[in-house]
Amino acid sequence: MLDSEAANLASLGKGKILLVDDQPLNIKILHQLFHQEFEMYMATSGEQAIEVCRKVKPDLVLLDIEMPGITGFEVCETLKADPLTATTAIIFVTAHFDEEQEARGFQVGAVDFIHKPINSIITSARVQNQFLLKRQSDVLRSFALIDSLTGLPNRRQFELSLPESWRHCIRYNKPLTLMMLDVDFFKHYNDAYGHQKGDDCLRIVAKAIASITRRPYDVVARYGGEEFICIFPDTTLDGGLSIAKKMISAVEALAIEHKGSRISSSVTISAGVASVCPSQNLTWQSVIEEADKQLYQAKENGRNRVCGVAVK
Ligand code: GH3
Ligand code: MG
Ligand code: MG
Ligand code: MG
Repeated sequence: MLDSEAANLASLGKGKILLVDDQPLNIKILHQLFHQEFEMYMATSGEQAIEVCRKVKPDLVLLDIEMPGITGFEVCETLKADPLTATTAIIFVTAHFDEEQEARGFQVGAVDFIHKPINSIITSARVQNQFLLKRQSDVLRSFALIDSLTGLPNRRQFELSLPESWRHCIRYNKPLTLMMLDVDFFKHYNDAYGHQKGDDCLRIVAKAIASITRRPYDVVARYGGEEFICIFPDTTLDGGLSIAKKMISAVEALAIEHKGSRISSSVTISAGVASVCPSQNLTWQSVIEEADKQLYQAKENGRNRVCGVAVK
């Protein structure tokens, strides 16, 4: 293992395990095995399991198959279909040694099986192995999808997230808002303070704008250079404009000196917002273009401001 990989794994903190079983006694047995090493969560139904997963995003779920209400298979399918929980590793816990059932478990996305009655040595080994694999894939994913300068999701992550959000908003008939942000007169900033200070500035600005968003499905990504792009599902134009104003104020409040700016003594940003009710006859690419046009308009109108449009 590389040192940097080990450092990244360590920085992910204590692992989280969710135990799901309709029989509390089974939960108790597994809890005793893992509670010293992991943060433990419990659920006694499939519905509860999905809810807890969305909230705490566990690394592993030890999932009973047979439960009243939705079964373990259905829970697994639901978790795998939701980008928020898709990377959680799922291990089925079953009382039956049934090949067909096991095959189905792997088909719906499980990574392993544990058989009841629980053998503590085998169960610990399987859980530890899967936990390590899960953490290693977290690190690899973070390298590929995170912008190394700011720590924000990168453009690739944005491009993966947007079609998901788009489909979600079509399915639930919800509005979707996109926002583009761009640092004002940033070329002059680099010219005045140097590229290194420019990088520092981008890091601080990124942190400030990302701190404004609260909802788990919101995405604030670095689009490239000194540009950022945001996805706000289930958000109207008014909502988007209000977030943009908060971001603009947050950057102003940083009061980063900017001698080269023609409109302020400190670093400012401009924003373009486009809101839409996603439908089959619109493309998300067209909404990005609209947000970009609004950003251009905000620049034309004097910068350090937002312009927005509701796309029909
Ligand atoms: P405007 O207000 O119209 O946006 O003006 P601007 O100077 O910000 O726009 P322009 O597109 O002309 O220049 C963007 C500059 O951003 C160019 C480059 O010097 C700087 N830049 C882009 N990416 C980075 C980066 O990763 N680090 C640093 N330090 N500077 C960057
Ligand atoms: Mg059961
Ligand atoms: Mg730019
Ligand atoms: Mg700029």
